[in-house]
Amino acid sequence: MAVLKAIKVRDRDGEIFFRCPRCGMVFKRSKDYIKHINRAHGHLFKK
Ligand SMILES: [Zn+2]
Repeated sequence: MAVLKAIKVRDRDGEIFFRCPRCGMVFKRSKDYIKHINRAHGHLFKK
């Protein structure tokens, strides 16, 4: 399973967020980010 590299964003409370480099959506947990990548952009990795 290929995964797009998340852009890590730190907000002013010091929390880390993961931003999708393709559509700009932001996720609090890497698990949700990976789920998004597979659902929204998974076609990019299919052969
Ligand atoms: Zn996305």
